[in-house]
Parts: sequence; C-alpha cells; structure tokens
Amino acid sequence: MQARILDTLPDRLLDQPAQELHRFLDGPTLIHLPGRNPQPLVVSVLQHGNETSGWDAVRRLLKGRYARDQLPRSLLLLIGNVRAAARGMRHLADQPDFNRCWPGSRGPETIWHRLFSQITRHVQRSQPFACIDVHNNTGQNPHYAAVNQIEAQRLHLASLFSKTVVYFTEPAGVQSMAFGRFAPAVTLECGLAAERDGTDHAMTYLDQVLHLDSLPNQVPEPDRLELFEMFATVKVAQGIDFDFQGQASDLRFPADLDRYNFREIARGTSLASYDPALGSAALLAEGHDGRDLSQDCFSIEGNQIRTRRPLMPAMLTTDEYVVRNDCLCYFMERLCVEQRVSPDQTRPEPAALPESEP
Ligand SMILES: [Zn+2]
Repeated sequence: MQARILDTLPDRLLDQPAQELHRFLDGPTLIHLPGRNPQPLVVSVLQHGNETSGWDAVRRLLKGRYARDQLPRSLLLLIGNVRAAARGMRHLADQPDFNRCWPGSRGPETIWHRLFSQITRHVQRSQPFACIDVHNNTGQNPHYAAVNQIEAQRLHLASLFSKTVVYFTEPAGVQSMAFGRFAPAVTLECGLAAERDGTDHAMTYLDQVLHLDSLPNQVPEPDRLELFEMFATVKVAQGIDFDFQGQASDLRFPADLDRYNFREIARGTSLASYDPALGSAALLAEGHDGRDLSQDCFSIEGNQIRTRRPLMPAMLTTDEYVVRNDCLCYFMERLCVEQRVSPDQTRPEPAALPESEP
C-alpha cells in the first residue's frame, strides 16, 4: 500500500463531510497546499474516523477566508481513515487503530506500519514548521493539547490551544511522537465530535498557527500553562463483564463517570460497584514506567472499587467499545515545568527515525 500524495485539492472535496470523503480518496492521503511561507504546517485529521472536528475545521478554513486569500504558510494536510469515517467509526474491524502504528510503535509490523513509515519520511523531508494532529474524545473532557516531550517550542504550540497541556509517553506508536522527532508536534483533543465548539476552536487555532513566523524558545509563563503528566493507563481486566448501566454481572460503572475528567478526585471515591466474590483485580492501573500500580491506586471496600489516593483522570470514557479496545482512562499528576526543563531539554531530540521497513 502506498500513500496518495496530491498537489491540489480534489474538486468538491471541501464540500464533503467526513462520511463522504471515501468517495474521493481511497486511503490515507497527503495534500500539499502552497502558502507565502514555504515551510509547511502539517495538519493531520481523521486518524480516528469518528473524530470529525479536525476535518470540519480545515474545510471551513479553506472554504472561507483562504478560498480568496493566499495561505500565510504552506499547509501539508494529512487525511487519515476515510473508510472508518464513512461508517462513523474510530477504525474498522479489519484495521488497527491508526494512531498506534507510527514509527516507534511496539506492535507487530503490518502494512499500516509500512505505510505510516513512508508518510513519516515524506513529512520529514518537507522540513515542517510544526505538526498538529487533531482528535476528539468520547467522554466529557475540557479541550486540551498534548505533547510527548517537555520542550519549550511544543509547550508554546500546545498552550496556544489551551492552558491545559498533557504530557504523555504511552501509548507508543502515536503520530505526534513520530513527527516530534524532527519538528514541534502536538495532539489536540477538541472535546466531543458532535459539539461544534471543538471545530470552532480548532479552526481559530490552526489559523493562528498558520500566521506564526516562529515559535519562542522560552517555556510559557506559569499563568499560561497548566501541565499534567499521564503516569498510568487504566484498563478493565480481560474476561470481566462490565457496563455503565448497572446491569453487568461483574463491574458496574456509574453512567456519568466521565464527570471526573480533569478533576482531582479524593481518596476513597467510588469508581464502580463490583462483585467481591470475583476476588482478583478487575480494574488495572498500568504504570507508564512498566509497574503495576493497581494496588497503589485502587482498594476494594465491600462491593465498591475506590481510589486509594487522590487521582486526576483524563479521557475517561463511558463508551464500552473504547474501554474494551483501548482503555477506561489515564491517571495524571500535575507537573511543575521549571523542575523538568533544563537547558539541554529545550532542544529537540536528534532527528533519528526508527526504521520499521527492512
Ligand atoms: Zn483520536
């Protein structure tokens, strides 16, 4: 499989909602659009087919002001999973999650890994100004940007979208980690796809970044940045019957569990009711340093699973499909930037890409 690389937008593409793009594109597609400053901004949309805010932001931007005016900076647009978008799904049953298959992923190599390696090399050769990958969440979350390195330029790029910035190093194989090896790269999380304010916010932000001449080398001031580090991924153990409607036999989460997103929840907060006769751990906290943090994070008291210490969840979802195929949420802790940024760390890592092709 080869990536499709175009120099112009196909006719009427900008009129199409995400669900119709598959009629015009047969797979992941890169489109180069020229602007006054030739160094491109890379914008990636629809890596997850049901996360439509990014595509809607791009097409509104290009159909509006930039239908008349030249772009202030070249745009390299990457349109991801159009087949999944046609069905309103994150990815299809015969596809992996696209945002786990970029260089640096640890999974078994597939045709998708080879395709995304090829796209990564193409993007690297374009020497991008910055790379922005636009997503939505499935639970109630504030809009936020995420980075994979604590480094001045990408923290600045992230804080222009939201004061809330999340630093994460797991899961592996995400695009922002691959592109972040040669350019400042951020992931945007624009809330629920169905809510228009995510599209509005992404569109305003992309226009702002297209107008930037450079990114400062100073870390944003503390009043413009709240940085959180994801330290654990929370999953439901294999074979556990769970739901959010109070019917499952093993583990019953409240229907509004996602109200805890980005809130520091106190020790002893109930996360689910649980059948204690099952004995073994149903809810697992996998530390991003490889340790099992389940005992550290959860206690079973009577028929309740409670937090054993204060915790702040992110990306808590009440979508059972996402919980089964990805995770329930991540746990975060607040980071003080000054503690973590030394002069050496403000420089990007050397531009060495892990090769996943033989
Ligand atoms: Zn996504």
